[in-house]
Amino acid sequence: MTTPFQAALEAGDLAGLRAAPKAELHIHAVLGGCRDFIHERIGQDIAPLEGVLSSMDEMHAWTDSQTAGVFRSATGRALAFEATFVRARKDGVSRMEVGADVWEITLHDNSAQAVWDVLANAHIAGAPQVDWIPQMSFSRHCSVRSLERWMTPLLELGRFRTLDLSGDEFAQPVEVFAPLYRRAKAAGLSLKAHVGEWGTADDVWRAVELLELDEVQHGIAAADSPQVMRALADAGVRLNICPTSNLKLGRVERLEDHPIRRLHDAGVRVTVNTDDPLMFGLSLSEEFLALYQAGVMTAAELDAIRLEGLR
Ligand SMILES: [Zn+2]
Repeated sequence: MTTPFQAALEAGDLAGLRAAPKAELHIHAVLGGCRDFIHERIGQDIAPLEGVLSSMDEMHAWTDSQTAGVFRSATGRALAFEATFVRARKDGVSRMEVGADVWEITLHDNSAQAVWDVLANAHIAGAPQVDWIPQMSFSRHCSVRSLERWMTPLLELGRFRTLDLSGDEFAQPVEVFAPLYRRAKAAGLSLKAHVGEWGTADDVWRAVELLELDEVQHGIAAADSPQVMRALADAGVRLNICPTSNLKLGRVERLEDHPIRRLHDAGVRVTVNTDDPLMFGLSLSEEFLALYQAGVMTAAELDAIRLEGLR
């Protein structure tokens, strides 16, 4: 039986895709917002990236030039969060995992409650109907001592449900974060980290073991190793994959060859996400449609992946 989502894929019907419930499990609020909403609020137009970048440094330079630091202040972060929820609402996202980097507590006199209030207010103002999974995250270049100091009051607040690690994959070896991940696990958080975007398949498995990850952000390098794919499949570790991000950062040359195909065929749990849609230009619905139109997955496979995100 063809579901409405499958029919919308086959017809190239974006409105139909937007109408279907779907989960966004890998998005960063700073570059996740609705372009029109940001323009309406502050008169600044942030056009998506043209062409392909080749490093995280180039990505940071693009962000600085295009956003002019508007999202660095406390009010700028609040705008970014609300714009991200607005984007989710407009695209029919029904569940979204997003949140604050732990350093943001320094923007609020070290008040965890204030960090929480900004996020919760953005959720209510932007998309109260979205099932929001509050996430706290680490930047990989920050010292473990600082991360611990910032994380402690946020953990004690008892509101955040997941932990992520992002930024330059080679800034520090993953094992330095293990004690903090153990604390988060003891507090009941679900654990994920960015790995295998720039690094190798072995890096992916090493992070899964050392940090006891439930999910991996990207992880596409795992497709280079049948052993790592088997281990991920056996352990039920899910990869939250962002196809357009991988293209725009030169991690994958052609969408037609995206490793999500091999990962899926190897039995690895995968989802489709946007990463930084303000920068990369595609909504979640458009990511699904692009994979379908490039012949990477069938409509039925993409529908199953959509449902995996809602599990
Ligand atoms: Zn990411």
